[in-house]
Amino acid sequence: MTEDAIPEALTGGCQCGQVRFAATGNPNWVVHCHCSLCRRQTSAPFATWVSVAAGDFAWTDGAPKIFTDSPDRHRGFCAACGTQLVGLSPKWPEEVHILVGALDDPNQVTPILHAYYGDALEWIDTHADSLPRYATLKREGPPLV
Ligand SMILES: [Zn+2]
Ligand SMILES: [Zn+2]
Repeated sequence: MTEDAIPEALTGGCQCGQVRFAATGNPNWVVHCHCSLCRRQTSAPFATWVSVAAGDFAWTDGAPKIFTDSPDRHRGFCAACGTQLVGLSPKWPEEVHILVGALDDPNQVTPILHAYYGDALEWIDTHADSLPRYATLKREGPPLV
């Protein structure tokens, strides 16, 4: 194996620096999510997530406060500065979903698709990219466009 084959760790944290994390290994996927819950939680038009293996993820400073909006959805954020950091769910216990904007270098990852694209805001123009657009995160059915 060459050194090039070893992925660089993903590091990141909140704006105030009290909560920091690191993830090793290859990400499972990177997606833009246009669902209304991600929009509300992040107060942004859409959220970009990178999924990593739970066993590859660690909090390296502090710990997030967890907000549970339903039994299946837990969001981790910094209690001091409010930065949204991760999504967790008993539906995918083997994964941690990290908000790409919390990474020290978001350019380390590259999105592969748009999820919940039917919920995208009318004025979001993502057509400059050629990524497939799906109705859900699970890539069920054909792409929407
Ligand atoms: Zn903070
Ligand atoms: Zn979402």
